[in-house]
Amino acid sequence: MRVACVGECMMELSERADGALTRAFGGDTLNTALYLARLGIPVDYVTALGDDPWSDEMVAAWAGEGIGTGQVRRVPGRNPGLYIIRTDAAGERSFHYWRDSAPARDLFAGPDAAATQAALAGYDLVYVSGISLSLYGEAGRAALAETLADLRGRGGRVAFDTNFRPRGWPDRDLARRVFRDAMAAADLVFASTEDLDWLYGAGGEAEALAHRGRAEIALKSGGDAPVVRVLWADGDETVPAPPVEAVVDTTAAGDSFAAAYLAARLTGRDPVAAARAGHRLAGAVIGHRGAVIPRAAMPDLPLQ
Ligand code: ADP
Repeated sequence: MRVACVGECMMELSERADGALTRAFGGDTLNTALYLARLGIPVDYVTALGDDPWSDEMVAAWAGEGIGTGQVRRVPGRNPGLYIIRTDAAGERSFHYWRDSAPARDLFAGPDAAATQAALAGYDLVYVSGISLSLYGEAGRAALAETLADLRGRGGRVAFDTNFRPRGWPDRDLARRVFRDAMAAADLVFASTEDLDWLYGAGGEAEALAHRGRAEIALKSGGDAPVVRVLWADGDETVPAPPVEAVVDTTAAGDSFAAAYLAARLTGRDPVAAARAGHRLAGAVIGHRGAVIPRAAMPDLPLQ
């Protein structure tokens, strides 16, 4: 069994009050790949980077976490995307991006795309997010959709996470259409009511339920007492998240939830047990600063 997570990881710079910057790396699908690897699921990260030193560091760090890097394309002369997190005097964070020329955007364009498509069609499960889909443009998305249809034809599965960032899309109508098609073409959908409401206005949940086709869906409702409603072929249950004593930083909550849910499903657990596993890992992740928690803080999930 092998999973592919498809998307973009960027350089992350955090600005201090005196203007000094500290560097990390960040990306939604990468977080999911990292937690899948930590949970013992064989996973490759599928993306494109440059041939610069930071791209080298990213690949080395991913390999160090046990993520397969055989499908990371390296594009000569290019640099990865970058964002700066600025924190204002009130402690509010804002995100500023330099990502338009990132090589990850060309993953499904150009002469190397066919090799990536052929490789992707051979996985047991491919995970993509709404952010991944915002990268590729119309032609790239069509190539990816064709590849995922091939994969499903061979018995592989597709998981789609509705991660939505408005600035990734030229207009909301396009995002709505792309999300609708992605939900209809997935076997497993992770959706947050917050993303859906941004996208569709109130009533986003109904849209997701209408468009998901036969897909299993984990519908996350946020707030201080989050719940996940899971609907699958044989059931429909709501699983509350256990309270977390001190929520420090919710970065990667959804990404880690998806990783633990997928890991549980791939190792034979039912959707309710998978939702519990998702809550358990996400609960640990939000108790720490940053997207990636120390290994020692990983909860024991009853997966094997
Ligand atoms: P994202 O915005 O990253 O998609 P969500 O808000 O959907 O994240 O939360 C994902 C998961 O993180 C929830 O299902 C839950 O397991 C956990 N979580 C987030 N916030 C809290 C909280 N305040 N208390 C307990 N668990 C939480």
